[in-house]
Amino acid sequence: MPIADYDTPMTFTERYSRQVLFAPIGAEGQKKLALSRVAVVGCGATGSAVASLLARAGVGTLCIIDRDYVEASNLQRQVLFDEQDAAESLPKAIAAARKIAAFNSEIVVEPQVADLTPANIAELLGEAQLVLDATDNFETRYLVNDYCVEQGRPWIYAAAVGSYGVTMNILPGETACLACVFPAPPRGVVETCDTSGILNSAVNLVASIEATEAMKFLVGAQDKLRRTLLSFDVWSNERSEIATAKPRPDCQACGARDFVHLAGDARPHITMCGRNSVQIHERHRPVDFAEMTARLSPHGQVRHNDFVLKFLREPYELTLFPDGRAIIKGTTDAAVARSLYARFIGS
Ligand SMILES: [Zn+2]
Repeated sequence: MPIADYDTPMTFTERYSRQVLFAPIGAEGQKKLALSRVAVVGCGATGSAVASLLARAGVGTLCIIDRDYVEASNLQRQVLFDEQDAAESLPKAIAAARKIAAFNSEIVVEPQVADLTPANIAELLGEAQLVLDATDNFETRYLVNDYCVEQGRPWIYAAAVGSYGVTMNILPGETACLACVFPAPPRGVVETCDTSGILNSAVNLVASIEATEAMKFLVGAQDKLRRTLLSFDVWSNERSEIATAKPRPDCQACGARDFVHLAGDARPHITMCGRNSVQIHERHRPVDFAEMTARLSPHGQVRHNDFVLKFLREPYELTLFPDGRAIIKGTTDAAVARSLYARFIGS
């Protein structure tokens, strides 16, 4: 249903009544939310939680971008997915859109099964007025930072690993950007959920803070936006805040406006993707799943739906997307992954 229908009785009188009663939002704020367009980059644990909160809160259009598919190990913390999604290996963006439609059919969700890259970032984030980080890697965060600083677009950094969460609002032209605070990827946060585990409560806290800051921004409560890098550990109860109200004058991104990540010169086409997986996204290669299934069947177990094709050939599992991108599980060796791809998909 188009967002222009937001004043139908169900939406405003019933669905959002408790949120409208909250004075800083009110009926005016609720209308602003309904007319808002937000991009969520990544739909794992943080993305699921933040998209779920904002969808329920009535943000009119959510663009959800994710490159991955649902697995059983996601269900402990990724609140938009269920066992059926994992059994079908549904792409997370698609599964998220379906789940949201079941609890709020009055907003628009645009799922994008894609890896955010310098080549597609303008198209995927172009119309969003606010960008929410829910990725699991600094490569993508620096790319989002470059794009948003260049465009003067606000975005919110959010990360969680183990029992630790960290978040920061970036208001280009006003506050520090990600590269001001982390000129290089921080050492402490490069641990991943695959190596250090993660508490679902740490993710949900960081997502709750991110969603709240997003709502403040969208209803125009700019003066209430936090201007610090906030980190906390839900297990040890340690908490810290670092002021980010002022950009660093010698920042490469917002100071020198040298957007190296956006230029994408040094970007690898083969990337690590969680533990024991390699992603290959060398070129755009549209794939016909029916044809590919026939070709691969003699070599291993193969199945597909409209969104992904899975090819199991022990000890490897290759997941292929319609645009030719692949995630190869069972190796961390780029050469092995490249050779499997060349052998079975095409060189
Ligand atoms: Zn900066």
